[in-house]
Amino acid sequence: MKPFVYDQPAARVIFGVGTLDRLADEVKHLGAKRALVLSTPEQQKDAESASQRLGAMSAGVYAKAVMHVPIETARAAREEAKRLDADCYVAIGGGSTVGLGKAIALESGLPIVAVPTTYAGSEMTPIYGITEAGVKKTGKDRRVLPRTVIYDVNLTLTLPAKIAGPSGMNAMAHMVEGLYAQDGNPVMSLMAQEGIRALARSLPIIVKDPANLDARSDALYGAWLGGTVLGNVGMAIHHKLCHTLGGTFNLPHAEVHTVILPYATAYNREAAPEAMKLAADALGCKDAAQGIYDLSVKIGAHVALKDIGMPLDGLDKAADLATTNPYWNPRPIERKAIRELLENAYWGKRPE
Ligand code: NAD
Repeated sequence: MKPFVYDQPAARVIFGVGTLDRLADEVKHLGAKRALVLSTPEQQKDAESASQRLGAMSAGVYAKAVMHVPIETARAAREEAKRLDADCYVAIGGGSTVGLGKAIALESGLPIVAVPTTYAGSEMTPIYGITEAGVKKTGKDRRVLPRTVIYDVNLTLTLPAKIAGPSGMNAMAHMVEGLYAQDGNPVMSLMAQEGIRALARSLPIIVKDPANLDARSDALYGAWLGGTVLGNVGMAIHHKLCHTLGGTFNLPHAEVHTVILPYATAYNREAAPEAMKLAADALGCKDAAQGIYDLSVKIGAHVALKDIGMPLDGLDKAADLATTNPYWNPRPIERKAIRELLENAYWGKRPE
């Protein structure tokens, strides 16, 4: 067996249907007395309902989270937290809201209770991102890792199929890359295989029958595993490409992950044969890259960069940026091959 380091940053995880009922107990468990509830404007109702459950332990609601955590939003939220004398944050929403909680915690060190409502996985990672003057800076700090994560399947029922599908593929991307990570370990590989299986079986059901609680449970379970893998092992070319495309061309986060994943997987096919076999088995197909592409088609997600806002004349710039300061990857990063990968992803051609 390959030697490994296993260093799990522990978060307390509460998973189930209706688990939001435990919010007040979980805030108490942290020794906190005044929690500021964070959300996006679209999820203000969820935040208000969480605030009501907290009763006297709620310091208020701050419903101004937006994508990519602009520094101005983070500063305003930090001020609001100070003004309200908050000693804890409850972040209810997707990666954008959890990201805002992390930006506040980075400065204040106060604990976060995350209540994820998408499959992005940020709640399980010590990774933060803050955007200043149009540039997103990311970093790693254990202070930003939520202390408690409440997964309540009920909260995901409102996630529309067109967001749920790509969001699930975002979680899958963490696990596919986790299988060939340079610093991978057997426990993360088990989690990755289990999570890929859970998402592959549940996402096609969710898009047809969005109220199916079993499928929603499976998908959220897969998302938890995906977030855990992302938080524990290093990511490679797929995540580098997505960060480059998302940041430079302002493409939507989950959709860009969905489009790129089959091509990044095909890029590494020969260099990581064991990981490919594990991924294909978990997907229930012969070839992981083709299986991922076929799953995206099945769930009605976009499979081409041209359909999610990528300009054709941006492909050269994207190839340049993605091959500058590359992340470790099983196959060496070659500009010509990456440019080809982007061309195929632009047109949405099924990997051969
Ligand atoms: P998001 O948080 O931006 O949510 C998208 C939209 O869906 C928002 O309007 C939100 O309010 C709404 N929404 C969320 N859950 C809903 C629900 N259950 N019902 C109805 N509407 C709902 O999207 P995301 O994909 O979760 O997060 C993307 C962001 O997270 C990106 O900025 C990305 O960089 C970041 N991210 C960070 C990490 C990390 O480890 N730091 C990991 C993954 C993603």
